[in-house]
Amino acid sequence: MAAATSTSLAAGRLHFSPHPNANPARLSFPASLKTPSKPVSLNLRHLTVPSAAAAPYPDSSSSSIPDLLSDKPRDECGVVGIIGDPDASYLCSVALHALQHRGQEGAGIVSTHRPSSDSPVSLRSVTGLGLVSQVFQDKSKLDYLSGSAAIGHVRYSTAGSASSLANVQPFLAGYRFGQLAVAHNGNLVNYSSLRASLEDSGSIFNTTSDTEVILHLIANSNSRPLISRIVDACEALQGAYSLLFLTKNKLFAARDPYGFRPLVLGRLRRPSRGIVFASETCALDLIEADYEREVNPGEVILVDGHDMSLSSLCLMPPKPRKACIFEHIYFALPNSIVFGRAVYSSRYSFGSTLAKESPVANADVVIPVPDSGFYAALGYASHSGVPFQQGLIRSHYVGRTFIQPEQNIRDLAVRLKLAPVKGILEGKSVVVVDDSIVRGTTSSKIVRLIKDAGAREVHMRIASPPIVGSCYYGVDTPRSEELISNKMDVEGVRNAIGCDSLAFLSLESLRNLLGKEAPSYCDACFSGNYPVPPIENEADRLLTEEEE
Ligand code: SF4
Repeated sequence: MAAATSTSLAAGRLHFSPHPNANPARLSFPASLKTPSKPVSLNLRHLTVPSAAAAPYPDSSSSSIPDLLSDKPRDECGVVGIIGDPDASYLCSVALHALQHRGQEGAGIVSTHRPSSDSPVSLRSVTGLGLVSQVFQDKSKLDYLSGSAAIGHVRYSTAGSASSLANVQPFLAGYRFGQLAVAHNGNLVNYSSLRASLEDSGSIFNTTSDTEVILHLIANSNSRPLISRIVDACEALQGAYSLLFLTKNKLFAARDPYGFRPLVLGRLRRPSRGIVFASETCALDLIEADYEREVNPGEVILVDGHDMSLSSLCLMPPKPRKACIFEHIYFALPNSIVFGRAVYSSRYSFGSTLAKESPVANADVVIPVPDSGFYAALGYASHSGVPFQQGLIRSHYVGRTFIQPEQNIRDLAVRLKLAPVKGILEGKSVVVVDDSIVRGTTSSKIVRLIKDAGAREVHMRIASPPIVGSCYYGVDTPRSEELISNKMDVEGVRNAIGCDSLAFLSLESLRNLLGKEAPSYCDACFSGNYPVPPIENEADRLLTEEEE
């Protein structure tokens, strides 16, 4: 097979460019690939890229070693899309910096490109493993992504291999009506059954990401125009998706009918008045765009690059919104407005309510687990009247790039990341506030760290209810049986962690804080009430099926 330009051919209709960043030549779409005569199986491991061609855009991957304090749920991704501005890809890269907390494994941008006024527009892509600053370190990559429209993505995987460059989005594909790029935040609960059915009808997949099925579904739809094909595809999806699609002259934004993951619409303040979509408003703030509104659950918005007109379509009959409450507990940046609420205020109120519910008699000091418990600790301290102090100092210089230690010194990892301040802790009764407990492994190390620093008592206060179930909607949580609160009651968890007392924010209080909006939030990982039934062992089924 010739080439690095080659891609797999799905049902004879879709050819797919998952990661053409290493080589601009790979971005071309030879005519022979546009009308394939038969499905072609492609083994990416056998692809070779001429070194000279690969040189301009080397893979700037960083270590994929997880954070040493990784016992937290992780959001899957962040997305941004901009249309109608000559600096679209630059603005996109800046906005992706603002969304870096939503995914650190990989980043990418696809933009429109027109070499001259009489040339046709095509899409170009740069993706890489690592942080946005690493992937786009070289300014020439952004120069290469010229054009007035772009979509970008930061990735943390819950479906698909984390270390595979092929899984880094946006995905860029060609089908019989041209090129199409997609960026996805969320997780499809029916991914493996959709994939199995597509493979049964001849589709060949290049990635292990659930996002690829969306492209195949669009390619297989018989509807016209593209917005109808997108609606067709979305009707087959179950689970969480906030999606951005880019063609040579249009940008589409779509959100699942439950609205699990956030997606907002804004407008640039600069003269272009370009349209922006982003996972969080912090991305709008950074590029000086005004927030206009959320993309509604079940809505698809089309922005036409010719006249910048907006059209909105209802994907399917609306369902009761089920926005992820964990965005407010942990994921979103505190300066964001998510689902119409200020994240900072949410966290502060979770902390102050926790103080009201679970006070600690004769406490000397309230400290946060940095950075996850910071805003809840402020609320706790304010309500309780106990002084707030920074008893743990976080090092920002270890983590992703630290070499995985030998097993026998792994317990030291927490000390590399967090340094106790003896002067604050010694001889004190300390209230330690964190946002959540997942497996409990990090919490127990933190308690030991504080006790080793001389604390007289350690009282853990958690600004969310116990996590008893896994997430199937785009958040990486361990299997339910690995969750410490699924295995034991609060006293059991306290004993395992080794603190003197432990209390969680109650589910009732969490719902009370959300007021009349409470029913519009998903709290399934705390309550077990899953809005879309999880299809258990989907991933396992896929992994264990024998290769033919
Ligand atoms: Fe968010 Fe939990 Fe619902 Fe997942 S299960 S969407 S983490 S609230």
